[in-house]
Amino acid sequence: EDPILSTEREVKNWAIQKSSEIDQLKAQEKFRREFLSNISHEFKTPLFAIQGYIETLKDGMIEDDIEMANNFLNKASRNIDRLTYLLNDLDQISKLETGQITINKEKFDVIELILETVDHLIDKARKQNIDIVIDIKNNSPIYVKADKQRIQQVLVNLIDNSIKYGKQDGKTKINIYPLFDQILVEITDNGFGIEEKNISRVFERFFRTDKSRSRDIGGSGLGLSIVKHIIEAHQQTVHARSTEGIGTTFGFTLEKAKGNT
Ligand code: ADP
Repeated sequence: EDPILSTEREVKNWAIQKSSEIDQLKAQEKFRREFLSNISHEFKTPLFAIQGYIETLKDGMIEDDIEMANNFLNKASRNIDRLTYLLNDLDQISKLETGQITINKEKFDVIELILETVDHLIDKARKQNIDIVIDIKNNSPIYVKADKQRIQQVLVNLIDNSIKYGKQDGKTKINIYPLFDQILVEITDNGFGIEEKNISRVFERFFRTDKSRSRDIGGSGLGLSIVKHIIEAHQQTVHARSTEGIGTTFGFTLEKAKGNT
């Protein structure tokens, strides 16, 4: 082969490779910029709120109106909680995305875990008079092989959303379907739902629909992206479907445990 032609081809290939590397770096850079701007935006809202409450208290409200002052202190404290949750979520996301988290699989009864998780959230559901119904055919356990703690986090995030975005006097249904070597867990609410155009975006980090922003329902927009990361780290799948005004279903699969393993 002609050495000049072959060198030319090598140079061309090199250039193609470099240009795709540059595209990749540009995409990473864009991602980092957006990530930072999202984070600072999410932090500003509660910080400004806290600042506002403290300024008002400093201006003499404590003496003038004790009840209102207490109310403001509570609100400030709730915003501090929000910042703490946000930091925790961010910490988790970054660990999940950089692969710093190991999935420790063990065999456990998923029904038991669901019951335990619902127990943690029942008070919150009662405040909105939401019924949580678990569809269990019989009392026998369903064993799965997964990271129990992280699957609990998935359940908390999904059930918590079904309450947050559910309606007063509503209902959350939890269904468990056995598949061939997997099981499918679905959480369904009868809340305000998600518009068709947004359904594929809800797993993106920081994505929140205008509805949830405008109704001032607390959240960081990180919960579902944590869910997706955890389930995908198990090589399983997660999905969402929704009808506006009717309700939403989130589902994920888990690996069935075989024998004693
Ligand atoms: P957060 O709840 O903190 O905003 P998530 O990542 O858990 O963040 O959810 C992202 C967005 O998806 C929410 O802000 C909301 O707009 C929408 N969403 C999630 N779950 C539901 C649900 N069950 N019903 C309606 N909308 C939902």
